[in-house]
Amino acid sequence: MTSTNVNQLATAPVNGEAPSRPSDFIHDIIDEHLRAGRYQGIVTRFPPEPNGYLHIGHAKSICLNFGLANDYGGVCHLRMDDTDPTKESVEYVESIMNDVRWLGFDWQGKMFYASDYFEKLYRFAVKLLQEGKAYVDSLNEEEIRKYRGTVTEAGKPSPFRNRSVEENLDLFERMRRGEFADGAHVVRARIDMANPNMKMRDPLLYRIRKAHHYRTADDWCIYPMYDFAHPLSDAMEGITHSICTLEFENNRELYDWMLEACGFSEPRPHQYEFARLNLNYTVMSKRKLLQLVEEKHVSGWDDPRLPTISGLRRRGYTAEAIRNFCRAIGVAKANSTVDMAQLEHAIRDDLNQKVPRVLCVLRPLKVVITNYPEGQTEELDAPYYPHDVPKEGSRKLPFSREIVIERDDFMENPPKGYYRLSPGAEVRLRHGYIIKCDDVIKDTAGNVVELHCSYDPLTRSGAPNAVDRKVKGTIHWISVQHGGPVEVRLYDRLYTLENPEGITDLNPESLEVLSGSVAEPSLAMAEAGSRFQFERQGYFCADAVDSKPGKPVFNRIVTLKDTWARMNEGSPKTAATETKPAPKQPVPPAPPKGRKPEARELTPEQEATAKRLREAYQLSGEDAVLLAESQPLTQFFEEAVKTHANPAGIANWIVNELLRELKEREISALSFGPKELAELVSLIDDETISGKIAKDVFAEILKSGGSPKAIVEQKGWKQISDPKQLMPIIDRVVAASPENVARFKEGKGNVFGFFVGQVLKETGGKANPRLVNELLQQRLSQ
Ligand code: ATP
Ligand code: MG
Repeated sequence: MTSTNVNQLATAPVNGEAPSRPSDFIHDIIDEHLRAGRYQGIVTRFPPEPNGYLHIGHAKSICLNFGLANDYGGVCHLRMDDTDPTKESVEYVESIMNDVRWLGFDWQGKMFYASDYFEKLYRFAVKLLQEGKAYVDSLNEEEIRKYRGTVTEAGKPSPFRNRSVEENLDLFERMRRGEFADGAHVVRARIDMANPNMKMRDPLLYRIRKAHHYRTADDWCIYPMYDFAHPLSDAMEGITHSICTLEFENNRELYDWMLEACGFSEPRPHQYEFARLNLNYTVMSKRKLLQLVEEKHVSGWDDPRLPTISGLRRRGYTAEAIRNFCRAIGVAKANSTVDMAQLEHAIRDDLNQKVPRVLCVLRPLKVVITNYPEGQTEELDAPYYPHDVPKEGSRKLPFSREIVIERDDFMENPPKGYYRLSPGAEVRLRHGYIIKCDDVIKDTAGNVVELHCSYDPLTRSGAPNAVDRKVKGTIHWISVQHGGPVEVRLYDRLYTLENPEGITDLNPESLEVLSGSVAEPSLAMAEAGSRFQFERQGYFCADAVDSKPGKPVFNRIVTLKDTWARMNEGSPKTAATETKPAPKQPVPPAPPKGRKPEARELTPEQEATAKRLREAYQLSGEDAVLLAESQPLTQFFEEAVKTHANPAGIANWIVNELLRELKEREISALSFGPKELAELVSLIDDETISGKIAKDVFAEILKSGGSPKAIVEQKGWKQISDPKQLMPIIDRVVAASPENVARFKEGKGNVFGFFVGQVLKETGGKANPRLVNELLQQRLSQ
């Protein structure tokens, strides 16, 4: 066998995948439309807003939309949904184009920008105003919210609803010319303020926003809203099937209204909703990802720990693995959370047969082969594909007197069944000889620093005259003189919780950098982006940014242990759309609650304030110090406590949530005051809302102020604390999962959490968790 350059192997092109067409409800719908001759051809679109990098959830949508175009010989447009000037940029546009291409899809020249339609959209709004189907409203945001009513109460018409057409047209034109300040007026559709669907209660079409747009610069100071721009963009581009995620279900009625009102007749686009992808142990909202990047909890949008496409790519995922994953999870109408282990399974499955197997010792322990002549080297024949694949290629592995092995592969006092090295025991060196451990060398502190072993010259692997002697363990190794240093980056889950809420749930051990690892000589010149299996360790990829020939850096893509495959033994690979109970994997302990900002040295006055806060409100020392640091903050806290007497709860929100926000802006610039924060805490305390929903309410008031009570009302976020309402959901969840009921009855307590999670999910996080716990206990013990 001749030696093969490892780079040729590791960067070999990926194989094609089976082009079988998935079957799901969207394919069924399209089949039906084509049968009925409703459309000439199929046109879909992928419409990201360029306000962040794409993530694996977007990949699901991309695979679906571009996949449909491929399946039906149609086309999928790539459209930048860039109607919000404040958060968008060219950098994001470019990253999106790059990611879609990398995933293997082609928009066939059909790249569009919603911002290119601004003039046309303006014309449509004028038409609606002329026909009395829209009006200029001059209520402020807060008033508009109040007038809109709640899910249980009809809204009432704005006093501006009956402005004359002339006045409306005049105001709209002046809005465009920039005569009014942000928020002074909006344009709304005139639909129905009592419609049971809140989205139909005169939705906003335009708002004033004096902001620079990355493409239209300062041409516009009014910007169209999603519910206006989106359907019209679809219709103008001749989209047939406008596919979005389930949150938009209630917008569908509005989508149809808008197209009708603007004069688009059939055949016109229609909206269909599918369940978004959720993955456990990570976050998938662009807002949260942006926060991780901006606050430098990760190294950038392409940090290999992120679920972004660029992060996964840098980590070493292949496009094919991601496409296979998206195909395997399928497209359904019910929200669910997919186990991270399933994504990991997809990359293992893809790399298993493709990439060469090489040796690298991550945490070395020196071994001297005492009976091997000093200064001698021999070359062992080592195939790159030692397993059962019809792929060839090998390299020569130098062996000499001093080698390193994995520290874990030696134990001084091994338990029964340990087949690696221990005093007096034998193991085989991969592709080499059997060695025996004769002596253990320790430093003065008693740490093992070196082993003395002897080798059996008659046992060389593959040698024609080798004696056939079996030992139970085989370990990897590297010749000290020949091996090269490599940096290895080991990644673990980004969050400690399956369903993380925020940065307080980050896993402090998600990245471990090993600087003392030693790899076989062939890896020294590894090309950036090339992938390998490090035998017994996992799949690794030379980092695209930091790895240089001669100075390689490897990312661990994934370990070898496939928990997902084991959980699903015997079940077909594709039927994995429902939630799987989490695999039992060691999860590192949660970080100290809150990981609060560092408290600094205090002045004597601050010291005194801290003491007073501690004593008057029974606060923890740490909270008191943080609150005492700034006088406005102390005041904010004390004001809030006056409204709602839960000092500890309020302090907790300020320290864990608000302080983070105050890094960006002054307390006086917040869109809410102490009263609102107190109100929020009181809503949690009286169990009107869950802690999880409270975070959403907090995000709302941060963004646009308002009363938490009103927000909860308006959004229908009230916690469900009525057993009569919860019981049917619990019954359904329990009935849907007889295997887990059985496991529960066998005393496997950890499935209880699964049931709680399901019920919470079914209620959109609104069920009272305490009550769910209670009712589930009752239900499951029946
Ligand atoms: P944000 O996180 O800011 O709400 P977004 O993730 O919805 O934004 P968009 O740029 O609007 O970002 O998304 C583009 C498309 O990707 C949309 O059509 C959306 O339905 C789809 N999409 C977004 N997230 C997911 C997901 N987790 N699963 C499936 N599709 C998704
Ligand atoms: Mg969106």
